[in-house]
Amino acid sequence: MEYVFEPNQIACVSVLDTSAKFPVHRIYCVGQNYADHVREMGGEPQQAPPVFFSKPADAIVTDNKDVPYPSATNSLHYEVELVIALGKGGRNIAAKAALDCVYGYAVGIDFTRRDLQAAAKSAGRPWDAAKGFDGSAPISAINPVARIGHPSNSVIELSVNGELKQQSNIENMIWSVEEIIAELSSFFELASGDLIYTGTPAGVSSVVAGDSISAAVQDVGEMNFKVI
Ligand code: MN
Repeated sequence: MEYVFEPNQIACVSVLDTSAKFPVHRIYCVGQNYADHVREMGGEPQQAPPVFFSKPADAIVTDNKDVPYPSATNSLHYEVELVIALGKGGRNIAAKAALDCVYGYAVGIDFTRRDLQAAAKSAGRPWDAAKGFDGSAPISAINPVARIGHPSNSVIELSVNGELKQQSNIENMIWSVEEIIAELSSFFELASGDLIYTGTPAGVSSVVAGDSISAAVQDVGEMNFKVI
């Protein structure tokens, strides 16, 4: 195969305690998946179908690297999320078969240009510039299911400069891991290498250059990095 130029490198996430890398295919995100966060954003939680959006695969920032403050915003919000890493995919996956597709789990941040998102929402426009920018998806090392199984009752939390800002439990997710995979696979053919950011609890707020962020999901992992 001859390319017209050298292809860009595949985005990869570390796997905890191994030298092997997880190659990223796509990044999907779930919105409005914790009732307290839906309320803080001015909405009403309901059992409507989940909201999905995506980020480019190379929006990840790995291994606790610094995250550059992005252009075009004055309101960069953190959102700590449990991330599902798929080892298998498919279309129309049944909820009872969904966990078989999971390779492992990680902690991630769904960084959001909240000012651009608010403007897009009120104008009825897409969220891409608010959600899918460079460096918008920091992620910890992936912890394989082979080691930790499928966490369902784990504290999820985030601190800025040592001050606790978000704390909940992944059992509070409106849509479970199984339900998210099943529903998402009715819209997209899922594949090995896909990452799914599963939504954030209440407590989102803005950060500035110089802030240190620590985030963790109990039994899954943690991350510590700086916004520069
Ligand atoms: Mn989010």
